[in-house]
Amino acid sequence: MRAVDVIQRKRDGLELTREEIDFFIRGYAGGQVPDYQASAFTMAVFFRGMTAGETVALTEAMMRTGEVLDFSDLPGPKVDKHSTGGVGDKTSLILAPLAAACGVYVPMISGRGLGHTGGTLDKLESIPGFRVRLSLTEFREVLRRSKMGLIGQTPEVAPADRKLYALRDVTATVESRPLISASIMSKKMAEGIDALVLDVKTGDGAFMKSFEDAKALAETMVEIGRGMGKKVAALITDMDQPLGHAVGNALEVAECVETLKGRGPSDLESLSLELSAWMLYLGGVTTLLEAARARVRDALASGAGLRKLREIVELQGGDPRVVDDPGLLPRAREAIPLRADRDGRVTRIGCGAVGHAAMLLGAGRETVESAIDPAVGLVLHKKGGDLVIQGEPLLTLHVNDRTHLEEVKALLRDAIRVGPEAPARTALIRAVLD
Ligand code: URA
Repeated sequence: MRAVDVIQRKRDGLELTREEIDFFIRGYAGGQVPDYQASAFTMAVFFRGMTAGETVALTEAMMRTGEVLDFSDLPGPKVDKHSTGGVGDKTSLILAPLAAACGVYVPMISGRGLGHTGGTLDKLESIPGFRVRLSLTEFREVLRRSKMGLIGQTPEVAPADRKLYALRDVTATVESRPLISASIMSKKMAEGIDALVLDVKTGDGAFMKSFEDAKALAETMVEIGRGMGKKVAALITDMDQPLGHAVGNALEVAECVETLKGRGPSDLESLSLELSAWMLYLGGVTTLLEAARARVRDALASGAGLRKLREIVELQGGDPRVVDDPGLLPRAREAIPLRADRDGRVTRIGCGAVGHAAMLLGAGRETVESAIDPAVGLVLHKKGGDLVIQGEPLLTLHVNDRTHLEEVKALLRDAIRVGPEAPARTALIRAVLD
């Protein structure tokens, strides 16, 4: 078999066999297939697409280039959640402790933020001392003791994806449904899980702006997971405005702690509860979804979720006192309010622009190499539909470096609109695929 023939067949719109896909991906991971051929291959897939069978074969091939974790010795269901990313999307730090407190093992391997979207790893690293780089042996031990573990992508998991994703980033081939689906699912399916809940975001602050695109992506990922013998459900959720109020790493951790204390924003609380209920349900902890919802609500109300967060912070080397006093998290030097220039209702919060503003303040990365500042970001005081009075703060900027401050203010003034009428309400959970 030759790589050029595989590329040519895809270029001509033919369906590749499992053997061809496996040959190409193994060759790329092993260095026998060079970057220029992999670039041509991804571009051919970009234009020609892939069938469901090809996409499953691609996912499996990428997964098999690395280690597939096996937690079958742990006595209980292993379930994870994956979000396609958004602004203020911090549910992992709430739902993982809730699900673990209810008996599910959560072996969560997360990513870093890029562009206007945040990443769980960056949020965790804002907790003084928290270690996201554990060896697989340490990860297993943390999981065994606490039923949850939160780590970053290791070189051992799906190395072909790491290489291919970097290549796609510079060859304009990221936005391809089979490539995105296989990339995400090859990493998730290597986690040794029995079930997966997908939170596929749609709207202005999401990767997939339109509902139809988000639904198609969700369907592909559900199909891959099921094709690989796992239980998978997808919730398609709104990202037309940030989730919760806080955007920025330490600010978001503080909001998660507040939420686990029962004092969080209602959208963040309800989405975290729903996603964790699905984790319990798919994991077989309850036979009915309604019973799973009651269990996670109890774990929140009793403080069991909060205690679990404290436990995992301590086990992974972080300062557990931040759970009692989020004031111990890194704090920016300045808090600068942005005030409403008229009375009315908030008609729109441009979600992508809010994420971009937080990035310019230093909370996110423009490129994978950018350094981030854990303390900075912004906290919204108003969300879509809220009443505002002229002069009231719409949000507070948390600032250490004023370099982009005026640009950030202009961006946000344009992104947040106030008008006479409340906008039509959009449902937070737009659809469920199960
Ligand atoms: N996230 C991933 O892990 N891979 C993609 O291709 C896109 C988003």
